[in-house]
This record gives sequence, structure tokens and C-alpha cells, in this order.
Amino acid sequence: MTRFNRRTQSSSQIPRYKLRSQLHMPSTSPLEARLQAMFPERVVVGTIAPHECAECNALREQLEGITWSEVPSAFIISNKGALPLLSQDAYVAFLPAWLRQALQEPAGEVASMLLVNLRHEPQTLGFTAEQASVIVEVARFIATANYWGPDDPVNVESLAAIEAAWGRKAA
Ligand SMILES: [Zn+2]
Repeated sequence: MTRFNRRTQSSSQIPRYKLRSQLHMPSTSPLEARLQAMFPERVVVGTIAPHECAECNALREQLEGITWSEVPSAFIISNKGALPLLSQDAYVAFLPAWLRQALQEPAGEVASMLLVNLRHEPQTLGFTAEQASVIVEVARFIATANYWGPDDPVNVESLAAIEAAWGRKAA
């Protein structure tokens, strides 16, 4: 039985298109590895989103019973502005999912919305110093890699504000 399973999973059995698509998958960057190391996988037992509306219902349904690394990319992309709807506990637990999506697509809308959120609503309560420093690093990465580049005045302002709010926590 074991031998049979092993044989069916050998690389010769993997369709060629799968092997090829794996080459185009974003590889895990050092910053993504730090996200994985610093943010524990944790299910939120309390309130995920306190408000009652269709958007918050969808958030609750999707995030209930799963950890941040299990949140589908497509959900994050279609809920790029949802971070302020999360309870603080859920924000701490699930922010890394939005951070990871932003790392994978630093010029995308999730990344730009994330900078806005980190800048204008710095809810640092509940994060550790190490987590806060990873958050600042992700913001620096986005500001360097997005369309506007590190010298863009808005990027410079955003980054300064994020470094002030989150860097204080990172100590
Ligand atoms: Zn709502």
C-alpha cells in the first residue's frame, strides 16, 4: 500500500503543466519566511468582526476556524479594504495574510491599501516587538517596490508615519 502510494506520487506522474506552473509560483522571500516565523498560526475564538452587515458576515464566514496562512489569496484581493472591520484580536491574527499578499504583489491594490491602513489606523495593540518590526520591513519593501518608488513623496510620508507608529512598538 505504502509502496503503491509512493509510486503514484512520483514526479513522473505529475502532469507536465503542473511542473511548469510551479516554476512560476512566487518563491518564498526572506521576508515571507520571517512572517511565517514571527506570526503564529492561530484560530480566533472570540469575535472576528463585531459589525453586522454583508461584508462583515463574509469575513466571519471565511475566517472562522482557519489560521492566517489558510486565507485564500482571492479572498484577500476581494477584501483588500477589510482590515478595519476586524476585531483587534482578529486583526493581530490575520494581518500576516494581508502582509504576505502584499509581499507577493507589492504593486497591487492589497499592498497600497495595506500602507493606508498601517499609516492611518496603526492598531499596534497585541503585536509583539518582533512582529511590529516585520510589519515595518514589509511597509519598506512595498514602498520600494510599488509603481511610485522609494522617492515618491506619498511613499516617503507613508513610510515615515508607519515607522513612527510601528517602529515605536518595535523598539
Ligand atoms: Zn460591517
